[in-house]
Amino acid sequence: MSFYPETLSELERGIVSELEKLRIYDCHEHLPPESSRLRQSPDAFTLFSHYCQHDLYTAGMDKKTMAEILWNPGDIDWKWKTFEPFYNKMKHTSYCRAAHITMEKFYGEKQLTAENVHEVSERVRRANTEGLYNRVLRDTCGIIASINCDGPLDDNHSGQILQTLRCADELCTGGDVQKRLGGETPVRTLEDVLTACEKRIKDAAKKGAVGVKFMAFYMDGAAKEEARATLARLLSDPSLRLPRRNPLNEYVLTAQLMMAHKNGLVCCVHTGYWNDYRELSPANLLPFIIKNQDVKIDLYHVGYPYVREAIMLGKVWPSVRMNMCWTYLISRKFAFDALDEMLEMLPDNKIFGFGGDYYVVEKVFGHLVMARETISRVLAKKVREKTLTLERALDIGKKILYDNPKEFYNLKG
Ligand SMILES: [Zn+2]
Repeated sequence: MSFYPETLSELERGIVSELEKLRIYDCHEHLPPESSRLRQSPDAFTLFSHYCQHDLYTAGMDKKTMAEILWNPGDIDWKWKTFEPFYNKMKHTSYCRAAHITMEKFYGEKQLTAENVHEVSERVRRANTEGLYNRVLRDTCGIIASINCDGPLDDNHSGQILQTLRCADELCTGGDVQKRLGGETPVRTLEDVLTACEKRIKDAAKKGAVGVKFMAFYMDGAAKEEARATLARLLSDPSLRLPRRNPLNEYVLTAQLMMAHKNGLVCCVHTGYWNDYRELSPANLLPFIIKNQDVKIDLYHVGYPYVREAIMLGKVWPSVRMNMCWTYLISRKFAFDALDEMLEMLPDNKIFGFGGDYYVVEKVFGHLVMARETISRVLAKKVREKTLTLERALDIGKKILYDNPKEFYNLKG
């Protein structure tokens, strides 16, 4: 229990203990194949890569230095000296908390210091051996399977990893179209574009993928002829760059959502938080959902900062699920409030309680501890308020971590 705050009440601790016993589904990751992780030379700083780098960057660290420290092997003393001033500025954030929990669990230290940085690096290096993914995901986290994004479709790690296909999007130049869909034969017509999309999605389904990943760009099913004319313009003028919100992109995104559905795949949709988050509001999906109410949509990240726009989609539409992946890392307060509000508004089959959303496998554990903590605090609040019995609260805990993703994705296990 040492990973959980001492301030948890007895009731909250009791619920955490029950959640720890569950075998669960991990509803979103970005894990590379274990073989590529084993080829890397990770060190203590690897634990502060991925989301921590957002906080290091906004604290003032430049991107080139950051890449050298976090993603490449190098002199540990130089790394520490350069890293420390920025680490001191961000070591209290939620991103960093997951890194600290992870470091304590697997490498025995609560924080990185000048005194332990060499030893932690050595422990990380020694643990980077075959079986790492199973030791972390299956044995330590109790994860039955992780739904994964951006990995090779044929890497399923004996069923532990379930891949999703990244859809072809951001069709803004002729070059984008060829790069994403051209393959061996260049794309010339809108029919070529659609055939190439269909082939990718069919192939993914055949290889066992469980979903297609989309970003929630605006898509209102632009007319086919507009899309055709836009493609012709892009192909005839290689210097032309259109905004993402263009008829070709919209039309092709909409077509791919339908293709995913027809091939039995879930549409996994990132909403909110990313660079220009204004383009990724969950409300962008509404015109599509209204017209296609049977298409299964797994809505990622509860739309932060457009939280209530996201919850509204779960509230109104039967085919939409709310996925808490990444949320506890973004902000515990936001995740707590979102889950609290969703449990008041939604039937208990609508929420997926956890997705680590990480490249670095050990960090999934740090995030899972934070998820269990927040879920238990929300459930305990409802028990204290007498809106749920403890028995019902524990049943909901199990549903959001196990039954709901299993049912929606038709998973076995
Ligand atoms: Zn992600």
